[in-house]
Amino acid sequence: MKDLTDWLSEGEATASQGYLTSAGGPLHRPSRQWYGQVMPGSWAPNIDSDGVDGKLGGVVAIRAHDPAFDENVFLAQVQRLFFAVIEAWSALKPALSQGVMASLIWEEQKAQISSYRERGWRNVLTKLTFTSAVVAGALSDSGFDTITVRINANSADYDVDADRNVIRGDTQPWDWTEDWIFQRPLTAQTGRPGTITSQTCPNCGAAVNVDITSICPFCDAAVISGKFGWLLTRIDRV
Ligand SMILES: [Zn+2]
Repeated sequence: MKDLTDWLSEGEATASQGYLTSAGGPLHRPSRQWYGQVMPGSWAPNIDSDGVDGKLGGVVAIRAHDPAFDENVFLAQVQRLFFAVIEAWSALKPALSQGVMASLIWEEQKAQISSYRERGWRNVLTKLTFTSAVVAGALSDSGFDTITVRINANSADYDVDADRNVIRGDTQPWDWTEDWIFQRPLTAQTGRPGTITSQTCPNCGAAVNVDITSICPFCDAAVISGKFGWLLTRIDRV
């Protein structure tokens, strides 16, 4: 896995060269430039460095203080959050992802959305498919529960200007993998389903009945209740 900091500066350096190409065809880097960072004093566990035992130990440590935590239920929620975060970005509507992202990465996303809005640009992720996701790291330490979710997805990724001309990226879909890191305070517990509350949809303003997460029946936006507890803090392209 590439070091994120190097990758970031590398991306910035090549972005000024316009359309990203290499001898083997377009370089498949996302247009997205919001990566965030993990909570101060914590780190992102990863099966590549910690091994399977490290991951299993992390899940056991999380379940020790939160017996209701279930990997599969968690991954199903992450799939919803994934689409909310991507939808916020490609529709240029930061409100859609505010309840899902930690403040730093959300501010980064919001800033890039603003700059795209000013230029009349949009990022297009044609035929986005969520192929699979696994827990690729887990840790309960330094005041936080941290889970690294390895997401395999497929999409094109390109930017268009106000006249819908493609200005960078690749219009052909390809497979890509990212680690999405979710964190919550050590004191948090998995929300118990059962109590439905009425919340305002961040996209259309309708009142939506939400348990832990829900989809707005009027506009399909993700609506998150405080019961989910986990926030996306960092994204690493793998
Ligand atoms: Zn709605």
